[in-house]
Amino acid sequence: MRINVLTIFPEYLRSPLELSIPGRARAAGLVEYRLVDLREHTHDRHRTTDDEPFGGGAGMVMKPEPFFEALDALAPAGPVVSLTPRGRPFDHDTAVRWALESELTLLCGRYKGIDQRVIDARVDEEVSIGDYVLSGGEPAALVVIDAVVRLLPGALGDHESAASDSFYDGRLSAPVYTRPASYRGLEVPPVLRSGDHVRVASWREREALRATRRTRPDLLDGEGAD
Ligand code: SAH
Repeated sequence: MRINVLTIFPEYLRSPLELSIPGRARAAGLVEYRLVDLREHTHDRHRTTDDEPFGGGAGMVMKPEPFFEALDALAPAGPVVSLTPRGRPFDHDTAVRWALESELTLLCGRYKGIDQRVIDARVDEEVSIGDYVLSGGEPAALVVIDAVVRLLPGALGDHESAASDSFYDGRLSAPVYTRPASYRGLEVPPVLRSGDHVRVASWREREALRATRRTRPDLLDGEGAD
């Protein structure tokens, strides 16, 4: 898979993408990251990527030309995605869908956002990583990349598994514990130390449901849950 990121701050993403699962996946040849500096697609001495908003008002707007030219140069095969609070909420199903693509292109805005003509003419999907406003699309791009790349076959090691994570089967994961079994008077639930895999599985199932009902009942809607 190839992931392109269009940004005025390629350095923002470089080192996080070298670490942990995104870094390992790249080293293993599962994914390639292309960080495209939008300033490389400007033609003035100041390498300007923003300008004042038509219609007036506070804040600057990202100019269309660098995005159009960068996308012309890339000619991306897969979805072109704009990161914006105006987008649909990014979720597990979207991550799964994009993990099946051979190429994904992410557009990072800054200031008041990107000239709408880029969105209208070149963007397939707009996604938001949550109901709050970031200073730029770069942290959102890192969130999306991490969530997508960990789903690529082989990205997770033998001892990691996406299948036991939250959202995989439409609910949150059960709580987890490790050694020591007793710490400062806090005990690990005995069932987890029983060695009885059937009981462990049903405890996890029960706890997963309980957690989901408590914090994310919306996930159970349509499952006949009350
Ligand atoms: N004026 C815009 C916000 C611009 S914030 C509005 O009110 O909708 C600057 C940039 O940060 C955006 O262009 C976008 O790329 C990014 N950004 C901010 N919040 C985000 C979010 N919740 N999800 C994804 N990207 C976000």
